Amino acid sequence: MDEIALYIHWPYCARICPYCDFNVYKNKPDTTRNLVAAILADMQYWRQLSGPRRLVSIHFGGGTPSLLPAKNLRQIISQARQLWNAAESLEIGLEANPKDINKQVLRDWKLAGIERLSIGVQSFDDYALKFLGRDHDAAAARKALEAAQTEIPRVSADLIYGWAGQTLDMLHKDLRIAVQSGVSHISAYQLTIEPGTAFGRAGIRGINKAVNSDHSADFFELATDTLSAAGFEKYEVSNFAKNNANRSRHNLVYWQGGDYAGVGPGAHGRLTARGVRTATIATLKPKDYISAVDETGYAIKERETLDAKAWAEEYVLMGLRISSGISLSRYKQISGHGLAPERIAEFERAGLLVTSKDKLSATVQGSLVLDTVCRELLS
Ligand code: SF4
Repeated sequence: MDEIALYIHWPYCARICPYCDFNVYKNKPDTTRNLVAAILADMQYWRQLSGPRRLVSIHFGGGTPSLLPAKNLRQIISQARQLWNAAESLEIGLEANPKDINKQVLRDWKLAGIERLSIGVQSFDDYALKFLGRDHDAAAARKALEAAQTEIPRVSADLIYGWAGQTLDMLHKDLRIAVQSGVSHISAYQLTIEPGTAFGRAGIRGINKAVNSDHSADFFELATDTLSAAGFEKYEVSNFAKNNANRSRHNLVYWQGGDYAGVGPGAHGRLTARGVRTATIATLKPKDYISAVDETGYAIKERETLDAKAWAEEYVLMGLRISSGISLSRYKQISGHGLAPERIAEFERAGLLVTSKDKLSATVQGSLVLDTVCRELLS
């Protein structure tokens, strides 16, 4: 049976961070009931679209899904299990803000079936947390990591680095504290300045909020070296796990070109059926999402059939992010032709790509310039 992952987007946050360009809105607890009802109905529509599938993961992302009451998480999880055939290794993950974590809520999440938490620590430095507009402090982050590990089997600390003023020593300290916390997974994301965000607007006024791009490679390499030395395997550009079992199975579905239902305002989805791959985006605003589901039973706003070229490009762009890379024969199967061997050989000589039998993957140096490598590989 074909596999599917389920992504649930909870779009509300206690406050909007100045670097965030996700589909997020200021928290409105009074809409929770209606939005959960719409999500449950939209999941039923997705089940009709996908047909019977083996459900490999449920991921609550956002926004801040740790604002969603545990009883609603439970409802969504139990309906997902009824709609699809849950894999024995079903991963159920939740992104959580340190401020929302306490002993009681952890027990409730555990009872609801959550077995993986991604905690948005961002930094253990109070100045950095202020700079990034976060509403928690370093002590809350440490406490959340400690408490989470007493209840939830797999915990990830998510960090952001490369903010203007950060030094390599500061990043090293953050990484060291994350390692010492005992978590089995660390995500270390480089701060990028996106247009339309508060940091993006500051950039237009000449105020740079991220480290100079000449230095960003040093930060990236420090993160890779420090975490590798601490026994974390880098299995994706920004993701490190103590061993295979601690990798994010949900994110691997994205990177390996699998299928996922995208439910909730603005959620993206991918579905492959009878050799046709469709990309979907749900209606963005929560109130429009609720109305769309009320009126039609679903909330997909955009539905695009990917042609062979677009599908194959996405396969490469996502697949070269992970250490296991892409399958050259799968690429050929999707696109109808192979990748140019002379171009691959050029990148191999430059130390940016490596091939091993059918596999093509990026080296650490290649990961630093992945956009350029992919662009040239696909041109
Ligand atoms: S908490 Fe996360 S999703 Fe919400 S605004 Fe901040 S970065 Fe964006």
